[in-house]
Amino acid sequence: GSNPLATTTASAANSSGVAPYVGTKLFKELPLSEKTRKGLKEGGFTRMTAIQRASLPHSLCGRDVLGAAKTGSGKTLAFLIPVIEKLYRLRWGSIDGVGAIIISPTRELALQIFEVLRKVGKHHTISGGLLIGGRKDVDMEKDRVLVLDEADRILDMGFSKSLNAIVSQLPRKRQTLLFSATQTRSVQDLARLSLKDPEYLAVHAES
Ligand code: ADP
Ligand code: MG
Repeated sequence: GSNPLATTTASAANSSGVAPYVGTKLFKELPLSEKTRKGLKEGGFTRMTAIQRASLPHSLCGRDVLGAAKTGSGKTLAFLIPVIEKLYRLRWGSIDGVGAIIISPTRELALQIFEVLRKVGKHHTISGGLLIGGRKDVDMEKDRVLVLDEADRILDMGFSKSLNAIVSQLPRKRQTLLFSATQTRSVQDLARLSLKDPEYLAVHAES
């Protein structure tokens, strides 16, 4: 069987506030809202996957994260949970505009993310919009969250210019979560452009 091993290269200066949650294995051990706990429990999510264990202690503290883990390792919840929690803590409502932007390579993946958001965010009053196709004029308040999902695939599909255009017009003061199945050179370039003092978290599955 597989024995996922999480490795993190967090710097000491970056780790304040994270320590109590490093090594936690269950979602219920994390400092989550009751609404999120309930959504996770009802969705059948109890134990965190390796990438969730490695990244959530950091992302929930508001840090930028570059998370690399293979397909099927649970990256969706690794970014949706911090998005939901951040907006909940900000008491964000639909009149406040766009609270988070999640960019994914395909319509199908965007729909899947939307479904997981609906399930896990069931007890929250979150509204989501699905935007298909190229877009440059996205408005986002500062202090909000940008997620780049499957970044390697977005780049492989030749969207690096559009991605840079979108990222460069968003407020600099934001949280950015970048997830990818592989750590390619172009993913690293994108990380340099879009992330600020990030935690690099790579989960390698041994088989
Ligand atoms: P990735 O984006 O890394 O390819 P997904 O987020 O799509 O992976 O998750 C893959 C599958 O694993 C999904 O069916 C999802 O419901 C399931 N999953 C994710 N996290 C957990 C968890 N903590 N416990 C059980 N199943 C999980
Ligand atoms: Mg995914």
